[in-house]
Amino acid sequence: RAACPETDGRRGRLFVLSGPSGVGKSTVLAHLRRELPGLWYSVSVTTRSRRPGERDGVNYLFLTEDRFREMVAAHDLLEYARFAGHWYGTPRGPVEERLAAGEDVLLEIDVQGARQVRRHPDLGAAAVLVFLAPPSFAELERRLTGRGTEDPAATEARLAAARDEIAAEREFDHTVVNTDVPAAARGLVSLMAGPHPAAGSD
Ligand code: 5GP
Repeated sequence: RAACPETDGRRGRLFVLSGPSGVGKSTVLAHLRRELPGLWYSVSVTTRSRRPGERDGVNYLFLTEDRFREMVAAHDLLEYARFAGHWYGTPRGPVEERLAAGEDVLLEIDVQGARQVRRHPDLGAAAVLVFLAPPSFAELERRLTGRGTEDPAATEARLAAARDEIAAEREFDHTVVNTDVPAAARGLVSLMAGPHPAAGSD
């Protein structure tokens, strides 16, 4: 991992990358992580099944519904949401540890999760919410249907969710349009290169 510079007791910053399913969050994120190898990214838990090529513990931690419910009951998730028939959530402990150690943290989550982060009593106010937008709804539809990872019913569920998700853009601090993956990743890099907030009041 890249050096964690002198943190001077500063907390890390919490960045949230969100936007409609199919907009290309994972692809932009993969690009971003190559540009910023030191960036700490939170691996989510989910109850959906693994797609070909996905690895447990790398793309997600794949859990049973029972195990997911246990994490919710134990307050082990920073945020969680049901999306297109499955549960997704961010394990709380690792994120809090990294922030306390002064490291920046990135979450890639859906719009409902981003809203929960915004409302979080400790982390919400300072969190930087970035909306990844498609060039147009027609283009998003093309990407979602062309992806071929979902059956038609699941694709339709994702399209329905996408219509609502697009409307959430105004709740975010920044919008990056994903016309071109390297350019979108560069847009994120420049947002993340912004100044650290002042050290906590003391
Ligand atoms: P997918 O099934 O395509 O990997 O993800 C479906 C949606 O769930 C995407 O919009 C993705 O960003 C979102 N997602 C992934 N992890 C989390 C999480 O931990 N929390 C929330 N709220 N959404 C997540």
